[in-house]
Amino acid sequence: MRLTFKLITCFPIIVALMTSCATDTLSSSGRDYWGHRPGPKNFKTVIIDAGHGGKDSGAISPHTCQKEKDLTLDMAKRIKAELGGFKTILLRDHDHFIELDDRVALANKRGDAVLISVHFNSGPSQVRGPETYFWRVDSHGLATRLQRAMSAASPAEENNRGLVRRRLRLTRNPEIPCVLIECGYLSNSGDSRLAADPAYRQKLAAHIAKAIRTQSSIGDSGTGPLPRPINSPPSRPTDAKE
Ligand SMILES: [Zn+2]
Repeated sequence: MRLTFKLITCFPIIVALMTSCATDTLSSSGRDYWGHRPGPKNFKTVIIDAGHGGKDSGAISPHTCQKEKDLTLDMAKRIKAELGGFKTILLRDHDHFIELDDRVALANKRGDAVLISVHFNSGPSQVRGPETYFWRVDSHGLATRLQRAMSAASPAEENNRGLVRRRLRLTRNPEIPCVLIECGYLSNSGDSRLAADPAYRQKLAAHIAKAIRTQSSIGDSGTGPLPRPINSPPSRPTDAKE
């Protein structure tokens, strides 16, 4: 009687454990609203979002006059070229504007994919170096790899935020793992000179592609503990700037 009682009381717990394990197994691919699961492995599709475009120039370097929208498109094309063996999709491949919510909708058409949104930063003139933003638990490993890879390519960093968990439209709203990378500060003269150098952009793109490749090969291995799941609503235009 006592044993039966124990089994009955334990049964829901056992089922819950089995269900959560099953969810984790299924979780490596396919769309998922929250993303409360380990990062993806064995994915074959990479969606690359060149930030800004058309009427939206993004940041403009006061040092080189280069526009963020042109540099992000150039980087997106270089990352694509470095990702041989993957199916790569550019959300834009020329200079035109796409609303952020439309970028999310385009990304959500794909299941077994990751999304990388490419940007350049702007801020106080002394701050420099790459930054990486993520929100979903399933994006932490890839974000960690991307920040490490860009940091390794960058010759200097100063007071930047590094890896940041922040709820943005392109980190919270897509239903696939998604990371927003800032490839350096156009407001900094050193970073601006790097951004203007095609050889540096190529090197950075190669590092970024390698990080994506590693994530697909070994998943989150070596990227530290997963962050806690947070059930936050989708990000709206009024929440924060991107
Ligand atoms: Zn931007």
